Amino acid sequence: MEKCRIIHDLEPKIVETCTIEVNGLDVQIVRKDIKNLHLGVYPPDGRVRVAVPLAMSNDAVRLAVIHSLGWIKQEQASFEAQPRQLEREMMTSESHYFLGKRYRLRVVTDNGPAKIVRQNAFLELHAPATASMKQRQRILQQWYRQELKQLIPPLLLKWQGLLGIADVHWGIRRMKTKWGSCNPTARHILFNLELAKKPMHCLEYILVHELVHLFYRKHDKNFYAMLTRLMPKWQLYRDQLNDFILSHERWK
Ligand SMILES: [Zn+2]
Repeated sequence: MEKCRIIHDLEPKIVETCTIEVNGLDVQIVRKDIKNLHLGVYPPDGRVRVAVPLAMSNDAVRLAVIHSLGWIKQEQASFEAQPRQLEREMMTSESHYFLGKRYRLRVVTDNGPAKIVRQNAFLELHAPATASMKQRQRILQQWYRQELKQLIPPLLLKWQGLLGIADVHWGIRRMKTKWGSCNPTARHILFNLELAKKPMHCLEYILVHELVHLFYRKHDKNFYAMLTRLMPKWQLYRDQLNDFILSHERWK
């Protein structure tokens, strides 16, 4: 987390952003005071982002993207094939994250109810000595789920109030390619369980992003205008969410 923040602070200031469509791909253009075009494909879903010098036109960007379509498709395919994270063994002293903070796992074998106790820099996992790695993983996931269930309602209430909307339903799910999703017809939002590991403002960003879909279904100009008005720093949070998995980039 710290590393990401430093990188963002050193980056040239973003002057303008917009999204164009190129051969069915949504391409985000970010104009900054830089010399060269920089094309990136980002996990988890292969989002395409192009950082370009201030004077470069959308048509010039479009040409550059078309020129790299083969590479972009290849990168997107590799994200789909990639395991999301290293498999954890759920052993004492392993690192695990909660709300963007790193904790050390401490496995405590006892015959009481299986549970997680968060204490200072430790997550204590209580489980019988016979519990398998998978069972220990499940105990931690259950705990993440419980914590998210506590964290989401106050955030949702706050933003429902600000937006003047009601009747929003939600759930938590483990998802491979998305941080969140929204079904505007059913007014139902899904949160990825993994969000429990990320800083609180990332969870809030996903919540706001999905709520904006109740107004605009697609990622169009109106969608981004509303999102930016509600949460001016959303791109920073989005990048923080995605930076923790390997990102595929290349310089041109
Ligand atoms: Zn969306």
